[in-house]
Amino acid sequence: MNMNFYAGTKLITGKDCIESNSYLFKRFGKKCLIVTGKSSAVKCGALSDVTDSLEKEGIAHEVYNGICQNPTAASCIEAGKQARNSGADFIIGIGGGSPLDASKAVAAAASNPDMNEADLYAMNIKNKPLPLIAVGTTAGTGSEVTPVSVLTNCQGMKKSIKSELLYPAISFGDPKYTVSLSEKFTRSTAIDAAAHCIESYFNRTANTMSEVFAVSGLKILSEVFDKINSCGVGSLTYDDREKLYNASILGGYAISVTGTAMPHSLGYFLTENYGIPHGTACGAYLSKFIDINLDEVPEKADKLFNELRTDADSFKEMIKRVSPEISVKLTDEDIAELAPRWDNTPSLKKNFGNIDGEYISDMLRELFS
Ligand code: NAP
Ligand code: ZN
Repeated sequence: MNMNFYAGTKLITGKDCIESNSYLFKRFGKKCLIVTGKSSAVKCGALSDVTDSLEKEGIAHEVYNGICQNPTAASCIEAGKQARNSGADFIIGIGGGSPLDASKAVAAAASNPDMNEADLYAMNIKNKPLPLIAVGTTAGTGSEVTPVSVLTNCQGMKKSIKSELLYPAISFGDPKYTVSLSEKFTRSTAIDAAAHCIESYFNRTANTMSEVFAVSGLKILSEVFDKINSCGVGSLTYDDREKLYNASILGGYAISVTGTAMPHSLGYFLTENYGIPHGTACGAYLSKFIDINLDEVPEKADKLFNELRTDADSFKEMIKRVSPEISVKLTDEDIAELAPRWDNTPSLKKNFGNIDGEYISDMLRELFS
């Protein structure tokens, strides 16, 4: 297997890492636009850490706090306009995957005045995006280190953009911000990190590097998941939060190489149509996904479970117990309506085995009726 790997982001993690590296902001200019969600950047303390550091370095800033969950491409183009009108030299994204993905697109929109939604998805841009600094506040997506932005298009569908131009220049990962995550989002984002590692490991495009990241991430996650399952989310310490955060970054590096697979492809409609949080939605399929791989690549599966010192059934049970319940019910008509989506989903082709439309419809019937 090859070792092809590229990581375009300077990653700095650890407690108070923004404060102790504030001098780095000066490299990018004298004014920035900070892109956040509604309230978590304030609640978790990341926004004040960033603005204190900017003030210390004499850098002016404006805030755009209009990024919602599963951000729309339109909101990114709007925030890009604000960045341009304010004369921002660079962008700082603060949040979970939603504001971080959005800030990648805002950086592109800021330097390309006539860019529309189609140009953004195609990365059909004349000018390089503004430099981006990412500050992660969830422990799940790994967006801090991926060249990917997942945005909701004008038809309400989640579509991803992948381009080396989207790597943040710097990502700050201070696990203290993740302490304020609710139980619901702690579980959902942790499952997202696990899904990234599992889908990257069982992926036709996996290489030696992505496997190292995926297995290392799963070793850390297994340890914390055992604790969640025996003592609850409330028992997590700062060190546990740091482990979850580090595992999410490892998952991010893993999917930077491989992308995701079936669980992510099938998770999107649960988020779009039923408002299920991203990680929870993808987690719905992990058991089935593992079963497929036990059949298709049994030696690869054995190697993973040996490394994790567990067996497939215990591993699936551990994941299931961390995953929040999903109460979606699908009728045969709902499933038939979804069918055209599966014809054109590139990440399904990355799966081992032949995951065709008929297989997916049967699986949806089994899981959700
Ligand atoms: P999120 O959508 O960014 O945030 C979920 C919720 O958690 C929001 O209500 C948010 O509040 C809140 N929150 C965030 N940080 C918090 C904190 N420290 N304390 C308390 N509340 C906090 O969740 P996410 O799971 O991190 O991101 C999901 C998005 O990432 C999806 O759109 C998904 O498609 C995408 N994704 C991207 C990649 C990639 O490679 N780029 C990979 C996987 C997933 P606010 O709204 O107030 O911020
Ligand atoms: Zn994900």
